[in-house]
Amino acid sequence: MTVSAIKLIQPGEIQGMPEDDTPLLVVMDARQAFQDRATRLAQLAATHTDSAWLGFCAQLAQAQVDALGSVETVALDETVVQESFKHSVPPLSISTWKPDARWSVVLAALEASLRKQGLPDGVRAALDRLVALPLSEQHKQAQALLAAEEQLVAADLAPFIGAALQLLWTCEAKLVSSFTHLHKGENGLCPVCGSHPVTSVLRVGDRDGHRYLVCSLCASEWYAPRARCTNCDTPKEVSRLGETPDSLVQGECCDDCGGYIKIMFQSKEPLMDPSADDLATLNLDLALASEGYQRTGRNLFFVTGQDEPSKSD
Ligand SMILES: [Zn+2]
Ligand SMILES: [Zn+2]
Repeated sequence: MTVSAIKLIQPGEIQGMPEDDTPLLVVMDARQAFQDRATRLAQLAATHTDSAWLGFCAQLAQAQVDALGSVETVALDETVVQESFKHSVPPLSISTWKPDARWSVVLAALEASLRKQGLPDGVRAALDRLVALPLSEQHKQAQALLAAEEQLVAADLAPFIGAALQLLWTCEAKLVSSFTHLHKGENGLCPVCGSHPVTSVLRVGDRDGHRYLVCSLCASEWYAPRARCTNCDTPKEVSRLGETPDSLVQGECCDDCGGYIKIMFQSKEPLMDPSADDLATLNLDLALASEGYQRTGRNLFFVTGQDEPSKSD
């Protein structure tokens, strides 16, 4: 794929924060989020050239749907949640996560669904390796993935670890939904958990025309003014690059910091899913990389990680 500049957005076009009651933070329903992702991935796998990879991702998202019943949430102190939002501290911060018994329960539920669905040999071998790892090593890999220390994570284990972490956080995020109105700010990282966005999206419907960043971990969506670099917040212009002006997924690129985040237009494809359509457009990432831009979004189903599988097992 080659990309060309579609639009150069001048500083004067940069949008401010909304002055009406447009929500600044939206927490997703976990079942809906995982089901939408599984459906979209299956649809993409049916038509895409990289269909084996997307087919596995569809199985993993379906396993997330199947494993939802295994996730127990932990009651939160409402005062702490309120104070956290007021002070722009993520109430479910990844930085204070202590693995507990829920990790193994959720991983076992994912594994059961995946084995029932039947996995390709290579993928099954990776799953076998992960579940055979000592618990302390599983926790270490999970913590490294959360902290974006991808060089410490075995690339072939990351999708399973990411899927389990997403289940824990997306279900827990629902518990803060009555306090999301307390979020007032603009953040580059998720106001609920502190993770990186996977992409940005312009939704249709109630939030029509407004741009949101989508959390790579808990699926929450938070308001990000359009046409502004979400990585460095420079007042300079950003440019949008893509295959065609009608492409569902384009790159919003900043020449100040050299970063880009994908932007997706739901008006072009109502069934789009931020995480699924990100995975289906890795060729756009390659094209933007060849233009000299660096990806600032993360997708927990796809990390480059270690070259060699971890030898500690
Ligand atoms: Zn989050
Ligand atoms: Zn920038």
